[in-house]
Amino acid sequence: MQSCTPDPDKSYTKPISKQEINSYGMYVHSDYPEIYKSQYFHYDGDDVVKKYVEKIMSIFKKITYNIKHNKKDKPILNKYEEDEFQEATECYICGKEFEENNKVREHDHLSGKYRGAACQSCNTKEGKATKLIPVFFHNGSNYDFHFLIEELMKHEDEYNKVKLLSKNSENYISIDYGSYNRKLRFLDSYRFMLKGLSDVAKSMDDFPILEKEFEGDIDLLKKKRILSI
Ligand SMILES: [Zn+2]
Repeated sequence: MQSCTPDPDKSYTKPISKQEINSYGMYVHSDYPEIYKSQYFHYDGDDVVKKYVEKIMSIFKKITYNIKHNKKDKPILNKYEEDEFQEATECYICGKEFEENNKVREHDHLSGKYRGAACQSCNTKEGKATKLIPVFFHNGSNYDFHFLIEELMKHEDEYNKVKLLSKNSENYISIDYGSYNRKLRFLDSYRFMLKGLSDVAKSMDDFPILEKEFEGDIDLLKKKRILSI
């Protein structure tokens, strides 16, 4: 006869709890309101991961579209900035002296604002950095990323792919979604702070976004098991 009762003389696994995701909260911070307005999103209900990925995809598409249609390929310089550019002898980023035909007007491609005289190599690097949209999950490497990957893959197409950078099969350093031109990079903020969310919360004095979104008494929201899971 067979039984479902585990044999006490052998090692076995007994599930004692099941974790289900019931909500998400996400704050989008933008320095360019003309491209996307800073705002908070929240959802609770069924299919949270699916709903979250759908939301972030719609944000990503909107940002990509707006960047494409607002791009300023030419820098906007006033007289003082142009004089400064002409006189510059070294790159404002790496500090190296300019070689012949190596000086460019490095600028913000969204606002057109001139940032300084830079060498070709630094200008190219700056351009690459602005193609990334970072998305932070606290402790995402060990937890949330596992749920995200499968759902993100459903949104792969001819141009947009999922790429994983992993330490091992269980721990992901980052997940990229997108194309060469523009991508979302999911990163783990724990790798930058090395503190649990409850400790991070303790080190902060004010919570303007929480206060605005949840009105009134937010002390409960700052406690462990609310912010830290
Ligand atoms: Zn340089």
